[in-house]
Amino acid sequence: MYLITCAAIALFFAGCGFSGSKENNNRKMIEKQDVTVHDVHTYAKPEEAVVKHLDWEAEVDFEHKRIKAKASLTIDKAGDAKYIILDTKGLRIEKVALDDSPRQVTFTLGDRDQWLGSPLMINLEPNTSVVHVHYTTGDSAEALQWLAPRQTSGGKYPFLFTQSQAILARSWVPIQDSPGIRFTYTAKVKVPKELMALMSAENPTEKSADGLYSFTMNQPIPAYLLALSVGDLAFQPISDRTGVYAEHAVIDKAVYEFGELEEMVQAAESLYGPYRWDRYDLLVLPPSFPFGGMENPRLTFATPTILAGDRSLTSLVAHELAHSWSGNLVTNGTWNDFWLNEGFTVYFEHRIMEKLYGRDYSEMLASLAMQDLKKEVDGMIKEGNGPDTRLKLDLEGRNPDDGVTSIAYDKGYFFLRQLEESTGREVFDSFLKKYFTDNAFKVMTTEMFVTYLNEHLISKNGLKPMEDIFRQWIYEEGLPEEKPVPLSGRFDSVNQVLELWTGGAKIKDIFLDDGAGADGWSTHQWLHFLRHLPEGLTVEQMKTLDEHLQFSESGNSEILAAWFSHVVRHEYEPGYSQLEQFLVNTGRRKFLMPLYSEMIKTGDGKKRALEIYKKARPNYHFVSTNSIDALLNVTP
Ligand SMILES: [Zn+2]
Repeated sequence: MYLITCAAIALFFAGCGFSGSKENNNRKMIEKQDVTVHDVHTYAKPEEAVVKHLDWEAEVDFEHKRIKAKASLTIDKAGDAKYIILDTKGLRIEKVALDDSPRQVTFTLGDRDQWLGSPLMINLEPNTSVVHVHYTTGDSAEALQWLAPRQTSGGKYPFLFTQSQAILARSWVPIQDSPGIRFTYTAKVKVPKELMALMSAENPTEKSADGLYSFTMNQPIPAYLLALSVGDLAFQPISDRTGVYAEHAVIDKAVYEFGELEEMVQAAESLYGPYRWDRYDLLVLPPSFPFGGMENPRLTFATPTILAGDRSLTSLVAHELAHSWSGNLVTNGTWNDFWLNEGFTVYFEHRIMEKLYGRDYSEMLASLAMQDLKKEVDGMIKEGNGPDTRLKLDLEGRNPDDGVTSIAYDKGYFFLRQLEESTGREVFDSFLKKYFTDNAFKVMTTEMFVTYLNEHLISKNGLKPMEDIFRQWIYEEGLPEEKPVPLSGRFDSVNQVLELWTGGAKIKDIFLDDGAGADGWSTHQWLHFLRHLPEGLTVEQMKTLDEHLQFSESGNSEILAAWFSHVVRHEYEPGYSQLEQFLVNTGRRKFLMPLYSEMIKTGDGKKRALEIYKKARPNYHFVSTNSIDALLNVTP
């Protein structure tokens, strides 16, 4: 095998006395045989000294919104390494010591880069094996979202959650923050005794009497999967190895919504091999969580916007669960290879949903994905961002979050689906199963993947070379001519209804008061309907639609967001107060960005957007405010 783990890298370099002195300070270059992992988003030089284990002792201070902590890092180092470099961002470093000695050692905190933060360089002694860093998080630690009691469902206690991906772990732990560097961890965390602390590790199921919690994570993870959440939380098991954490007010709803969690884990295992992280639990966060979900190992963080009441949005859980293989087990080597995490995960997600609910269901997901993808590709090319429509990205000098577009997710998905369709499902499935097994707990770059594909899919099965297909999808802009076509019978019935309507039939005749025209329509069918409503709807038509179909009253946030996009596009005045309520109470960037973007295109829209944003901004996480500040030209 040509893949190497960090342990192997460290041993290899220790063995051959490699010195990284010729290297650019901002870069890490690891080379062995034909492997090159070059991460432009870390200061770490793992070839000198690399973190193998983190022991974290921390106290969470809600009053001052900071964490005071000691990070004890067990390291492997090259024989003659004189220093270790950690990534930090805004941390106040109080003291650094080595091994068992109480003596402080010298360290240097370098200049701060907007995205990368500051390198923390610590001098080592010849036999150093543990480095202790005492520190406090900064005032604007970007990974930390502190919520006031009024921002929670309970309304009584404050709440904290972290979002470390892509490179924000360094704003709460001094660490080598590169997806290619894995370590195990243990932690002792003190929180106010009314609250429960949870991490991406073995977790408690009840509150402790004294607010002290201990955590162990025995499987090595990269820093972006470090996670902590503290709040007035309750736990309910779903099966022996799955369960849900949520605020008390939400827990019953969450238990119902995720009732099929165990079946989902079993479906995933039947596809691509055993679940390797022991437990799989979900934590439902307050609404300001900026993403749909975050695949923190053992404990997926999820947005409450998927609690639709009818289990219709659980594909998001299938997605986060799939990350337990793609991403958490086989990890993108750098953020330029982000599609390896997300494209595989979308592919796997659709396969889980197909297994549980049938091909017609997963084809609805695929059709919606193709709609999103085409729209985003067109938009990016129009705005001059063509290079970002390649799967392999170049994010040097930029925020790696710029790579979070439907390119990584949906173009990645359709590339893998193209491979499946070209080689046959059976062949492709056995290839994928082997891929996850061979590369478990290792890093993968795009180039390594292509080599692996050629060896284990193409050569092994005697298939004709597919270099052209690889090149078009991975390295060329836009979408290839030849691509998979999702076919959904359920969407055909929606199209028929749309044709009737655009042909002059009245809404109330199509959708009788008992909803017969849309009998049994699923959330995805409604989304397809909303996305394909004709442009230029009149106020009267908008009113009729909402009166008969009650979009603005929907408990389903996907449907609400799709409806609100019409409210904005058609400047439908009666819909604005609900739109404002939605924007103020939801922090999920996927919903926010399109709505704000759409708003600033209309006459008074920008003014209105700024007014709403002023009220909403305190409820959003940095990941969302960072994007919306830029969109609206707001200086924080
Ligand atoms: Zn994902």
